[in-house]
Amino acid sequence: MIPVLIVLNAGSSSLKFQVYDMFDGAEPRLVWKGLYEGLGAEAHFIVKDTDGAILDEMTWSRGDRIGHEEALMHLVSWLRSHQEGRKLAAIGHRVVHGGEAFTAPALVDDSVIQRLEALVPLAPLHQPHNLEPIRIVRRRLPGMPQVACFDTAFHQTQSDIASLFALPREMRERGVRRYGFHGLSYDYIASVLKDYDPRLAEGRVIVAHLGNGASLCALKEGTSVATTMGFSALDGLPMGTRCGAVDAGVIFFMLREMGLSPDEAEGVLYTKSGLLGVSGLSNDMRVLRSKAAANADAKRAIDLFVYRITREIGSLVAALGGLDGFVFTAGIGENDTATRSEVIAGLAWAGLALDEAANRGGGPRISTGPGPTAWVIPTNEELVIARQTRSVLGATQAKLAS
Ligand code: AMP
Repeated sequence: MIPVLIVLNAGSSSLKFQVYDMFDGAEPRLVWKGLYEGLGAEAHFIVKDTDGAILDEMTWSRGDRIGHEEALMHLVSWLRSHQEGRKLAAIGHRVVHGGEAFTAPALVDDSVIQRLEALVPLAPLHQPHNLEPIRIVRRRLPGMPQVACFDTAFHQTQSDIASLFALPREMRERGVRRYGFHGLSYDYIASVLKDYDPRLAEGRVIVAHLGNGASLCALKEGTSVATTMGFSALDGLPMGTRCGAVDAGVIFFMLREMGLSPDEAEGVLYTKSGLLGVSGLSNDMRVLRSKAAANADAKRAIDLFVYRITREIGSLVAALGGLDGFVFTAGIGENDTATRSEVIAGLAWAGLALDEAANRGGGPRISTGPGPTAWVIPTNEELVIARQTRSVLGATQAKLAS
């Protein structure tokens, strides 16, 4: 029997999954990937092979009441009927916040779940949804090993100063500090830099994870030294619907002068701001790009996005003491030629020069000349979860055997 693991990334109404074969000593091998969406309403299931061919698809009506639990159990039974010599060995989960305690992926038990629940206020948009399938598996598949893989853990290499807010010491002791996010994505990029240019793996690189969530990370020799996100996934760059960095005074103004409740203010900052808030149109870069020529608000939202990215890059170049390479990744970074070209244009001072044809072609190298190099590298957070899950299981089995 080939042991397989499922990688899960759960959202409020979605459940993304990938299934990997595990072989001793080799990279986990992707077999199937798919998605449940519309959970709680008209749920839809789709699963594809590694070439993108659709293997199975199903739609349920609202009355079928397909939520996360039903979707997960459907996935397990789909696997059982398609596994052909495979056996489900473990489930790896993306968990956005690991707080101070979880500096590495963790084998899940009840105490781990409890400690992760305490972090919900730090990532209210993601953490509750990430934890739900973990609880479901514990209830419905007792004994199934589960590993929680954190978006924060990759940034544990940052210095005390880089992670500190200028707040009273008792707040730091309560865990109020900069954590950083998108760590699974940065971990993947750091792991493949050597395949693109060995000098990058040893050098000073800024990675721009530009998707619906967006952040930048400064890597020195493949480890995180600084990042734009902080205590929560709100900080740093403007995002699809999140504000990015705002003066903390704005929140008091919202509460005291505008009469918003803390929940309402949180809703504004997480779900009504960013590209959506500034444009008044959409959080989707494709929509904004298609309207920007005729719509000043769409153009303004994009211009702010690019301006903030460029400014934050300046700060990270200072933190790194120079720049050897720049990487674009995630939905916008991998696909939006115009954002890449505008960001690189703002980095001429750092010696970056765009290779326009390569940029139009999607890279991987999109720079020219003797300066720092620029790259487009597709991220693969799921593979990192598969790698981490396998390594935690391997370590646990080794411990049990000794
Ligand atoms: P992600 O969160 O990584 O899935 O990225 C989502 C973002 O990527 C959305 O803003 C999409 O509009 C954007 N995106 C995806 N494909 C494209 C594309 N071909 N051109 C521009 N933006 C894109």
